[in-house]
Amino acid sequence: MLFYHLVLIYLVILFILIILFRVIEPTYMFVFNKPLYLYLYLFPKKLTTNQKQILEKEFPFFRKLSHKKKIYFEHRVNSFLNHYTFIGKEELLVTDEMKIIIAGSYIMLTFGMRHYLINLFKVIIIYPSAYFSNSNQQYHKGEFNPVMKAVAFSWEDFILGHQTTNDNINLGLHEFAHVLHFHGIKSNDPSAILFYDEFNKVISYFNDKNLNKKLSDNDYFRKYAYENRFEFIAVILEHFFETPHLFKSKYPELFQHVSSMINFNENNFDEFQNS
Ligand SMILES: [Zn+2]
Repeated sequence: MLFYHLVLIYLVILFILIILFRVIEPTYMFVFNKPLYLYLYLFPKKLTTNQKQILEKEFPFFRKLSHKKKIYFEHRVNSFLNHYTFIGKEELLVTDEMKIIIAGSYIMLTFGMRHYLINLFKVIIIYPSAYFSNSNQQYHKGEFNPVMKAVAFSWEDFILGHQTTNDNINLGLHEFAHVLHFHGIKSNDPSAILFYDEFNKVISYFNDKNLNKKLSDNDYFRKYAYENRFEFIAVILEHFFETPHLFKSKYPELFQHVSSMINFNENNFDEFQNS
């Protein structure tokens, strides 16, 4: 008898889960443009005091979060550090600080997504400065290589982009944006679906000749954005985080699409400089 009861309980739970994720969540996403929930961590992982201090010092975004959200952010940074392998090249010693700043940039970019540990890359390769890439026989500051499942950075350029917060250049956000773009095309988890829906609206600004010309004449997004659709998305996300107020005042509709694309909570921008 007990066995049949257990099977019945199992089937009921399975049924509830199917209804929840196949019926309720898609409807919710359709109406509200975001997943049913983002954070559900029964035992959130913690960082060391020192690691947390680095986040506090380096990320105004983190400082602004509520106590509860800080716990989620901390959990995600910890999971990021465990999920990906860091490799220093040309005798570069990868420090805890480097790891936290790289992880923090990624977690900030993906904080509105439920599924954030993307398996399109497994290693993060860090060079001391710009490095020669055999793939196209040129010096690179960074790249996402889906075949090698790697994201590579020149640390010199990464940290410069991270510390200069109003020039619309942020190498970390740029390369990770390429990862999100690929993920949005290839995957069908709720956050990838939402990303791709809004991505199509964002990219229409690139594809539409008139809109594209208007944007490039205006000169807000740097020229590199107009190279191709991949660079367009990456450069736009750099601007989104570096000069959100200016972006929003210039292109409120495009700003809203980018915001929905990564399900970003705009309140987190309040403490950013008035750019
Ligand atoms: Zn790029």
